[in-house]
Amino acid sequence: MKFVNRSKASRTGGTSLHAVAAMIIGLSLLGRPVAAIAQETVSPRVQDTGMVVTLLGTGTPLLSARRFGFSNIVQAGPLTLMFDAGRGSAIRLGQLGIPVGRIDALFLTHFHSDHVVGLPDIFMTGYLGLKSLGGRQTPLQVYGPTGTKPLIDGIRQAFSADAKIRHNDEKLSFDAMPIVAHEFEVGVVFEQSGVKVTAFEVDHGEHIKPSIGYQVDYGGNAVVFSGDTRHSENLISKSQNADLIIHEMAAAPSETNGNPVYQKILGHHTSPEEAGDVFARVKPAMAVYSHAGRLAGPTGVPSWGEIIKRTRKNYSGPLIIGEDLMQFFISENTVAIAVGGAD
Ligand SMILES: [Zn+2]
Ligand SMILES: [Zn+2]
Repeated sequence: MKFVNRSKASRTGGTSLHAVAAMIIGLSLLGRPVAAIAQETVSPRVQDTGMVVTLLGTGTPLLSARRFGFSNIVQAGPLTLMFDAGRGSAIRLGQLGIPVGRIDALFLTHFHSDHVVGLPDIFMTGYLGLKSLGGRQTPLQVYGPTGTKPLIDGIRQAFSADAKIRHNDEKLSFDAMPIVAHEFEVGVVFEQSGVKVTAFEVDHGEHIKPSIGYQVDYGGNAVVFSGDTRHSENLISKSQNADLIIHEMAAAPSETNGNPVYQKILGHHTSPEEAGDVFARVKPAMAVYSHAGRLAGPTGVPSWGEIIKRTRKNYSGPLIIGEDLMQFFISENTVAIAVGGAD
C-alpha cells in the first residue's frame, strides 16, 4: 500500500507534499500505473477515530468498464455509509470486500439516473441469503431530498413480484426486504455512533432541483462530496472544515465552444478553473476529482494534464484525479491515499 500524507494543519507549507501529490497525478496520466503502485486488500474499517473514503465509481453516464457510475463509501466507526449508487456500485462493493447488505445508510445527492441506477441492485442483492452478499436482516435505509419517496416507492413496486417469489420459494424474510425512504430538508440529516451527515444545497441548474452536497464528520475529521453542481458559493461556505473534498468537474475542448449540447452540459457543472477556486477557498488537505466529464472534440477529450493545468490557474494545493476503488484514509486531519485501482 502506498501512502501519501497531507495534513490540513500544514496545508500552507509542505512543498515536498505538493511534489508527491503532483507525482501521483503524473503517474495517473500515464494510463493505469497508479494501480500498479499497490494491490492490497484494505481493512474495511479503521479502528480509531479516522474515516476511510472509497471511490466506488468515478465515471459519468458514459458506458465505461474502467469508470463505473458515481458512488462512494465512507467507513466511520461502526458504520458503512454510501453516497449515491451509480452503475455497477454493487460490483465495486464486492471488489472491496464489503457485503452489499452491510450498508447502514445510503444517501442520494439528486435524481439524475447515473446517480441512482445502481440502487435496485444494492436493494435486491443485499437481502439475498448468501453471507458474502450480506444477508441483510433489516430494511435498507435511503436518505435523500424531496423526491426520494416516490423513487423508493417505485423501486419497491418494481421488485415486489421477486420479493414475493423469494419469500415463498427461498423463505427469505419479509423483514429484510423493505426499503425505507427518509426525505429531508438541508441540515444535519443523520447522526449515529458519532457520525454526523450534513446535507447542503448545491447548484446543478435551474431545472435540476433539489441537488445536494454532503459533509460527513467523524472524530474531528470531515469529508465533503460536492454532488453535481456548478460553482457553488454555498458549497464553499459549508465545506470550510473539510479535510478531503470529492468534487465533480466537466470540461470540453475550446474548439467545441459553439456546440449547444455541450454548452448545456457544461452549464450544469463546474469547470476546472472554477473547481480550482473552490479548492483554493476550502483549503482541504486533499482535493479529488471524481465524476469528471471530459467531452470530446475533433481532437479527442481534454487531457488530464490540460485539466490539471486549468485547475492550477486558481489552486496550487494537493489534487488527485480519482479512480475507481481509490481510497483515502482521514485521521487527525491528515489524508493518506491508497491506490487500489479497478480492473
Ligand atoms: Zn446530475
Ligand atoms: Zn452526474
